[in-house]
Amino acid sequence: MKKIIVAGAGHGGLTAAFLLAENGYDVTVMEAKRRNELGHDWHDCVWMPDFKRLGLKADDEKFVLPFFSYTYHNPAETVAITVENNHLDNLRMMDRKYLYDVLTERCRKSGVKFEFGKKITGAVTQGNKVCGVHTAKKEYLCDLVIDAAGIDSPVRRSLPAKSGVQNEIDPGKVIYTYRAYYENRLHKPAPDSQNIYFFHCGRAGMDWLVTEKDFVDILVGSFEPLTDEAISEAVADFSRIYSHTGEKIIRGGTVNRIPIGSAIPKFVWNGYAAIGDSCSMPEPMSGSGINRALCAGEILAETVTAAGDGELTEKTLWKYENDYLKKHGENSYSDSILREFLASLTAEELDYFFEHKILTEAEIGGASIKFTSPVQMLQKIASFVPKAYLLPRITEALRKLAAAEKVKQLLPEEFSRNAYAYWLRYYNQM
Ligand SMILES: Cc1cc2nc3c(=O)[nH]c(=O)nc-3n(C[C@H](O)[C@H](O)[C@H](O)COP(=O)(O)OP(=O)(O)OC[C@H]3O[C@@H](n4cnc5c(N)ncnc54)[C@H](O)[C@@H]3O)c2cc1C
Repeated sequence: MKKIIVAGAGHGGLTAAFLLAENGYDVTVMEAKRRNELGHDWHDCVWMPDFKRLGLKADDEKFVLPFFSYTYHNPAETVAITVENNHLDNLRMMDRKYLYDVLTERCRKSGVKFEFGKKITGAVTQGNKVCGVHTAKKEYLCDLVIDAAGIDSPVRRSLPAKSGVQNEIDPGKVIYTYRAYYENRLHKPAPDSQNIYFFHCGRAGMDWLVTEKDFVDILVGSFEPLTDEAISEAVADFSRIYSHTGEKIIRGGTVNRIPIGSAIPKFVWNGYAAIGDSCSMPEPMSGSGINRALCAGEILAETVTAAGDGELTEKTLWKYENDYLKKHGENSYSDSILREFLASLTAEELDYFFEHKILTEAEIGGASIKFTSPVQMLQKIASFVPKAYLLPRITEALRKLAAAEKVKQLLPEEFSRNAYAYWLRYYNQM
């Protein structure tokens, strides 16, 4: 029986774990935290059809709240654009602790073993392959390590250069976040309850203020590392906008990073497959890291099962990377380029785009079917913007979008070092 170690109880790792255990594999999840510490202490937006397809019953109304449409505000707060979401039936705000209950319960039923409080320090490698993980005290050997240890994965970081897997997530392709629930002294949501602010308090990034019946959900999202002062300033300003915000933090209150580039170019090696944030799977514009990880877990389990008794080399595991990119990952290329372009705008430029209706519901509504494609959006900006100095940035973004199309076409179906190296040349042009 093949032995699999899931490093870190990330969402994708747990999904692959229960599916593989159900197919007869010997699966152990090694997680640094204790069981009751798993998951962020708040609700997150998830796409319910993936849960149904995986046979995960996750519909307890105590923990799964409806999702509503958002209103977007420009930096000067002179224009508010409400994006009517067409997928409200399928989107939900799910309590992250409850989500972990659902995933770990399915794992236990499927025979997955858990070792909590076990901090992995790196991969055990032998010659050209990963053959286990180590903690400070001991080595644990296996046939495959599934790296679900998130953005700072020590396993990915310890891989040798010859693996071709990059050790670090590009620091320019992450967003720094602070999120907390404050008490809602009014005990009812405001009529315009979901709001997103660009350049809130003059900081490059995106914050939100969401009022629920009993709490005020505040997220501070920054393209630069967050300071305590920046967090306090944002919270104070939201308390001004929504005066019923209490001072007491009910849940959350932590600072985290989310990868917002495309998936790293290579996330498999001999005996190794990364999943979720450890290889930058979240959607660059809208998040969805949980669903991306769940879907990747499903694809990885299929790939491993299809390999049967054969060794799990980078050639066999490439099918996982290839199928994931084709089904989900390639959509990120253009979103990532667009995000980079939007992040390069100043507050004044963004105000101009909102006030002159260059950015409207059609451009902002990523989750709505009215969403304009990144190319159409850049062309629209180019045709409206009188400022010639923006044109080089638009031209550069359009060039990268053209490269992204090439990257999609050239993704090798079968892995070979040469085919991969050829593809990587184009990937690096994006
Ligand atoms: C503020 C915020 C809001 C978000 N909103 C959404 C949203 O609405 N929808 C959505 O889909 N996504 C959202 N995300 C993104 C989402 O959290 C991630 O994309 C998602 O959790 C997938 O990450 P993961 O499961 O791969 O890794 P993680 O969630 O980071 O899990 C990694 C696990 O590995 C463990 N680990 C780490 N190091 C070690 C080690 N050395 N040894 C053993 N174990 C280790 C960690 O303890 C952790 O349990 C949000 C993130 C943040 C921060």
